[in-house]
Amino acid sequence: MALKIPYSRVDWINTIFLLAISLLALVAAPIHLFRHGLDWFIGGLFAFYVIATGMSITLGYHRLFSHLSFKAKWPVRLFTLVFGACAFENSALNWASDHRRHHKHTDHDDDPYNIQQGFLWAHIGWILFKVLPEPPLDNVADLRRDRLVMLQHRTDKLIAVGVGLILPAALGYWWNGTEGALAGFLIVGALRVFVVQQCTFFINSLCHTIGRQPYSSTCSARDSTLMAFLTFGEGYHNFHHRFQHDYRNGVKAWAFDPTKWATWCLAKVGLVSGLRRVPEHQILLAEMDEARKHVGRQLADIHQSGTSVCDNALQAVHALEETLALAYHELGEAIDRKAEISRRTLARWRRQTRELVERVSALAPTPT
Ligand SMILES: [Zn+2]
Ligand SMILES: [Zn+2]
Repeated sequence: MALKIPYSRVDWINTIFLLAISLLALVAAPIHLFRHGLDWFIGGLFAFYVIATGMSITLGYHRLFSHLSFKAKWPVRLFTLVFGACAFENSALNWASDHRRHHKHTDHDDDPYNIQQGFLWAHIGWILFKVLPEPPLDNVADLRRDRLVMLQHRTDKLIAVGVGLILPAALGYWWNGTEGALAGFLIVGALRVFVVQQCTFFINSLCHTIGRQPYSSTCSARDSTLMAFLTFGEGYHNFHHRFQHDYRNGVKAWAFDPTKWATWCLAKVGLVSGLRRVPEHQILLAEMDEARKHVGRQLADIHQSGTSVCDNALQAVHALEETLALAYHELGEAIDRKAEISRRTLARWRRQTRELVERVSALAPTPT
């Protein structure tokens, strides 16, 4: 069947821009690299721009402006607004508005990058087509009070072209004449925009497709360490959708989340404050709740499929399930009464939660 494209809704500016960036990044930049190689100056500038623009999206556009996970002084807001614009992902105001709708309507029609409309739609399709009528910016009234945000909203394209493309070319020219200018434009400009954009797009597509759901299975968001490496720590998307205001996405101490570490460091030097953290008890309660639901689903599947499982293993699952049901009840009550529970007890319950999921997955014919 022929693919029907609704041409009247195509956003031609976005489409042509993304096509041009892809061609420059995937064809022109590699040819340039093959012919002239990469010197330390252009390589260093590329690394700086990737980190500065990528983190301005994750730390600035996402955790600061969209979720208000912490408060930031003007130098941090200014830096993330300038370099965030250089990712060519729209103004912070528009980005936050889309993103807040994504969280409010995840997996439903009003979710701008709804994964239920297909992987490609969530990854890039939603940028290539206009939503008509255009949704109002009625969910970012708080950001409208920030003068820097509003200034960037009016000038983001200018900043993007000036700081994101022309400045690297100018620095390249200063370093190595015309050849340097071309390297600055192609590698630090186009290739870097392509890399950072794809990393952001992965969050909307792959982070709703691959990985585990330890905190909630009520929406498609998933946790994946691999994705965390590709997205400056945003790969722990299941936790993020369950606790969207927490400044951490990788909540475990060992989780790869450079955005969390950068925010923590900025707090230490007084540039950001009021870091929001969900209490440990609350997180464990969500994990226990999800583990119990997971076990219920797996046991129902086994029962339905008539798969035979070892009696002893099944009994062990049921025994652990009962222990955890009591712990879940005790933890819920402690949270309601604001009572303390020792770290040792919390650690034991966390271990048992993990063990229950492992044991039932070992039973199940198709572990999820
Ligand atoms: Zn999401
Ligand atoms: Zn978010």
